Amino acid sequence: MNEPWTRDQLLVVFNLYCKIPFSKTKANNPLVIEVARLIGRSAASVAMKLGNFGSFDPALRAQGIKGLTRVSSADRGIWDEFNQSWENLSIESELATERLLAGSRTTPSERNKAKSSSELYACKLQDLLDRPSEKVREVKVRLHQKFFREAVLASYGSSCCVCCNPVPQLLTAGHIIPWANREDLRANPRNGLCLCSLHHDAFDCGLWTIEDSYEIRLSPELMAYLPNSTLESGFINYSKTKIRMPDKFWPEKAFLAFHRTNLFLE
Ligand SMILES: [Zn+2]
Repeated sequence: MNEPWTRDQLLVVFNLYCKIPFSKTKANNPLVIEVARLIGRSAASVAMKLGNFGSFDPALRAQGIKGLTRVSSADRGIWDEFNQSWENLSIESELATERLLAGSRTTPSERNKAKSSSELYACKLQDLLDRPSEKVREVKVRLHQKFFREAVLASYGSSCCVCCNPVPQLLTAGHIIPWANREDLRANPRNGLCLCSLHHDAFDCGLWTIEDSYEIRLSPELMAYLPNSTLESGFINYSKTKIRMPDKFWPEKAFLAFHRTNLFLE
């Protein structure tokens, strides 16, 4: 099939790119197969598109993953749009995915069931923005949180980047710059860290921070409680070691600098 990709198809595949580890962007991944089926393209063409997006990612290039040769300007365009406005594109791609799923329900009873279970059934961005402002805000927060959590956890292989805790119930997607400070960064995966509850709370309180070298620096406020075996195993063990890096969306150094300057307890 050589028809040009529609905007919705690109948005849905970019959304998938954000939410699966790069090592799983292959044509035999069941999620890739499912998205391909829904958009009426081959799994190989969806996998190639995912590879194209990866070729733009500086984190992947730094790991020696080279650009592909058949990258289109539309691929570059979607990559640039997301990176210029994660806030808007995360929502637009969530809605496009929701619409695609809605369209896949072929019988009237399936459609009615989907309509009653999802307030965003077949909703377009403009439909959302036309709602009362309070409702728009509530839905945007929920979609941002969903996109951000799924993208950040996937990038870090779903385990804490400090202690490798893999228990989903204990994992959170933490913001480096709090979203109360920068609402425009609340869905940007490069403003995210996958952390267990303990390391997330301690990071938000400024009890540790991350250097430009991605090494962990502990606050004197935390050290004041030593000697203590819990702190030794939970924090001192990791002092001056590098966080475990995500496979894509490396933390933005400017955001880490903000955390060191404004939140870290010197
Ligand atoms: Zn942890």
